[in-house]
Amino acid sequence: MKRVGLYPGTFDPVTMGHMDIIGRSMKLVDELVIGVAVSEAKRPLFLLEERIEMMQEECAQLAGPGRASITVLPFDKLLMHFAEDVGAHIILRGLRAVSDFEYEFQMTAMNEQLNRDIETVFLMADVRHQAVASRLVKEIARFGGDITPFVTPTVKERLLEKYKK
Ligand code: ADP
Repeated sequence: MKRVGLYPGTFDPVTMGHMDIIGRSMKLVDELVIGVAVSEAKRPLFLLEERIEMMQEECAQLAGPGRASITVLPFDKLLMHFAEDVGAHIILRGLRAVSDFEYEFQMTAMNEQLNRDIETVFLMADVRHQAVASRLVKEIARFGGDITPFVTPTVKERLLEKYKK
C-alpha cells in the first residue's frame, strides 16, 4: 500500500524550517502532498499562486529516484476533508516550541473526532531551523535585516522584491 502524507500550512513564504520538515516527512511516506492553505484570515503577504510556485520551486530540488514524490496543492476547506480528498493516511505537522503545542494539541484532538483513521504526526526541525517562523522572516525582511539563514536565495529574492514596492 502506498503511504500518503499531507503536510498543510500557509507557507507565507516557505522557510528553511518548512523544508526541514518536508525532508523528514519524505522519509515516512511514499507520496507527500503539500497543502497550501488559502488562509484568507491570516492576510498572507504572498498570493496563493505565489506561495504554491515558491513551494514547487523548492520541492523540485528534492526529487530523485527512490524518493517520495511530492505534489503541491491549494486547499480552502476543513483540513480533515482535504486529507480525505487526497487519500492521506497521516497529517504531518512541525513543532517549534512549547508555544506551538497548545494550538496543535487542540487541533489534533478535534481532528481526531472528525476522522479516527488519519493520524497526526509531529516532527521537529534541526536546532538551526527550529526557531524559524514565516512571520518573523517577513518582519526582518521588512526592516531590511538579513534573512539569508532562514530562507533559500529564491525566496529571499521574492521577499526583497515585495518590500521594495
Ligand atoms: P500554519 O498557518 O498552519 O501555522 P505554517 O506555514 O506557518 O502554517 O506552518 C506549517 C507547519 O510547519 C506547521 O505545522 C508549523 O508548526 C510548521 N513549522 C513552521 N516552521 C517550522 C520550524 N521552524 N520548525 C518546525 N516546524 C515548523
